[in-house]
Amino acid sequence: MKIGILALQGAFLEHKQALERLGVSCIEIRKKNDLDYIDGIILPGGESTVQSKLLRSLDLFTPIQSMINQGLPVLATCAGLILLAQNITPDQTHHFATLPVTVKRNAYGRQLGSFSTTGTVGDLKEFPLTFIRAPYITQIGEDVEILSTIDQKIVGVKYKNQIGLAFHPEMTDDLRIHKEFLKLVENVNELPKVACVG
Ligand code: GLN
Repeated sequence: MKIGILALQGAFLEHKQALERLGVSCIEIRKKNDLDYIDGIILPGGESTVQSKLLRSLDLFTPIQSMINQGLPVLATCAGLILLAQNITPDQTHHFATLPVTVKRNAYGRQLGSFSTTGTVGDLKEFPLTFIRAPYITQIGEDVEILSTIDQKIVGVKYKNQIGLAFHPEMTDDLRIHKEFLKLVENVNELPKVACVG
């Protein structure tokens, strides 16, 4: 199994360290052929507008978008979640738009928007949650499963092959979310593959 970590900007090293602790091989994605043979991808936190511009200028945007649409498992944290969201407020823009949710950027305010707490994420109890100028999710589409809410705000979702989190599991020592993601990757890889032509 090989996991790609988008490494253009932001907190990608922390994800790499988490995967290395779990003994999983990973590749930092900076150019198109880094995407060859990956079984899953991590979109890290950082600045979504900067990441989106770099993705486009490095010709990574369309290949990653279509791989996700075709079922590539993706774990997206914070800015990564914003990249996946179909709608973004207040910007009224979108990037990959593969995840049927609306996110509010910098939803906790720009200055005081960083905080830590603990909460439930899916079946995981007492998970340490670190928020850094985080978004939250204001609307979800059909078939989107809510994984986590804090103060009645949705901060984690799963939709088919996509996990989107407003917080940063890679900034804690708790590897349970990365483990869950690897399970998703394994399950997807067990399905029969459809031949890809071209
Ligand atoms: N505020 C950032 C954005 O809008 C996200 C912050 C983060 O990834 N920690 O892209």
